[in-house]
Parts: sequence; structure tokens; C-alpha cells
Amino acid sequence: MGGQVICGALLIAVAAQAQTFQLPSANLALFEKGGEERYFVGTVGKPWMTGTFGCVRTGGWQMHEGLDIRCLQRDHSGEPTDPVLATADGTVAYISTRPSLSNYGKYLILRHQVEGLEVYSLYAHLREMRHDLKVGQTVKAGEPVAVMGRATNTRESISKDRAHLHFEFNLLVNDRFASWYKKTFPDQRNDHGDWNGQNLLAFDPRAVFLGQHVQGAKFSLLGFLQGQTELCRVLVRKTYFPWLKRYAALIRPNPVAEKEGVAGYEIALNFNGLAFELIPRAASEIKGKAKFHLLSVNEAEYHKNPARRLVARKGPRWELTSHGLNLLELLTY
Ligand SMILES: [Zn+2]
Repeated sequence: MGGQVICGALLIAVAAQAQTFQLPSANLALFEKGGEERYFVGTVGKPWMTGTFGCVRTGGWQMHEGLDIRCLQRDHSGEPTDPVLATADGTVAYISTRPSLSNYGKYLILRHQVEGLEVYSLYAHLREMRHDLKVGQTVKAGEPVAVMGRATNTRESISKDRAHLHFEFNLLVNDRFASWYKKTFPDQRNDHGDWNGQNLLAFDPRAVFLGQHVQGAKFSLLGFLQGQTELCRVLVRKTYFPWLKRYAALIRPNPVAEKEGVAGYEIALNFNGLAFELIPRAASEIKGKAKFHLLSVNEAEYHKNPARRLVARKGPRWELTSHGLNLLELLTY
């Protein structure tokens, strides 16, 4: 009897572990063979791929930070009514209820702790948010948090037939973003504080959901992030910045720096600028005096995923662009 109870508890524990992340709506076509058309909403007149994550728009030169997920239910006037579900256990991090302030319209951000990583899920173009939601409130995986919609502040509105949930997974770049932004762009408005899109670095939810679906409990978000394809490698002459603490699991130990002292960090960035590997470096391992030094570029990856324009070729050499430098400034601020 006792054995059975333990067995049951174990099963539940394994099942829960296998499903750290749940699909954020009742649409499950992502897991069905050939279900892409029924899962993704492409941009106007374009195929479903334009509703996936990555350099999928404007010939690869425009980035889409998340998934555009098709609605399944509509009311009499054709508006979507699908409940939007929390993808994992977490807390409410940010609620933006004024559609005019963002191309995301009304949107919601949840904070999750997964394998020691602080991960944020974002739900946009919402019709309405659950009224009792407050920042800091706890939510459970699968819990309804909003209703799907098509709110946006862009000139071109989202038509009823394209109504969708825009869903993202993000890492947070810097909790001093608001002050960095004020200093760097004194003339620009920042309506969302630290929750400005520039301070969130997205990664591919489709790859996470499918990876978890195939691997079950063996799926590791940390492993997924560590396995990102490198776009470039940079050396920064900074020894403290918030990412090191928030995403300490991404740091790779280096005995030389441990012995001699850390003088900077070697950082591998993926195409979207996500710092997925950080190696402390000793002064004796660093050449040059530059604040940011581009060490290498993976040209194949650059050609495959160019939209963020973080690096560019200048004659025979590669350089960090203003976009790349800006990202590193923010990351290490
Ligand atoms: Zn979208």
C-alpha cells in the first residue's frame, strides 16, 4: 500500500517535470504532424512560417520574437474567445492594459524559475486580462490568465481572421534598464520601464515545446540554451553585470581566472544576442584594451539569421555594429 503511494507520487513528480512548459492555449496542433497551418498565423498573405520565431520576415531581415498562435473559438461577432493559459508555474511580472502604448496591445508577462534560470513568458494582443491579476501574484501552469484578442497600436490593425496570441519566452537583460535607456536615449519615451522589449531577449518557444514533447523529463531548458548556435564571441572588460547573477548557470568555469582574478568575460552570443555562454578571463588571457572586442564570427550563422544586425563585415574584417555595441552596453551596464 505504502509502496503504491510512493509510486504514484513519483509518477506525478515525473509527469510534472516532463511538462515544465505547457502550450499557452487549447490549440495543440503544434504537436500534430502537418499541423503547422492550424497552429501558426502568418503575416498578411504570407505562409505560416512567418508566424514562427526568428528571422522569418522580410526575406530574413526582420525578426519575429515569438509565436503567433491561431485561435480556436470565436463569439457571434467573430472575435476570439480562447482562454490564454500560463505556460508554467510562476508569478505575474508585468501587466500592460493600455493597447495604445505598444504594438503588443494589451499584454502580460509572467516570471518563472526553471533550473535556476529566471525565464519570462509574454502573452500579447490580448482581448482582456483576468481582472484579479496583480503583479507578484502566483499562477499555476495551465491556469487561464487572459482571453485571446487582436489588440495592437500599429497603423495596420490585426484582422479578425488573423486574430492570434503572440507568445514569447524571454530572458531579462538588465534590471537597470530604465536608467540605461534614459541615459542612452534621452529623447525617447519608455512607457514600460524594465519591461521594454529591448530589455527582453527572446528564444524559440516552438523549439522548447517540441524538445520537451520529444524528450519528456529529459528535456533541460539549461541544456537547450547552452546548445544555441553561436553567432559571435566577444570579450567584455567588465567583471560585474546583472546577467552574471541572474543566469549564473550559463557561466563556464575557468581555473586560470579563478587563480589570477577575473578581468573580463568572454561571451558567446546567438543570432538574437542572447549570451548563452560566459567564461571568466584573467588579465593574462586578454589581448588589447577595448571595452568590447569581437573575437570571432560564425559566418554561416550570420547568413542564416541576419535580422538583428549585431555584426557586419567591413572589407576583410568583421565588426560589431551599433546594434551589437548597444546590446553589449545594456548587457554590461
Ligand atoms: Zn507575433
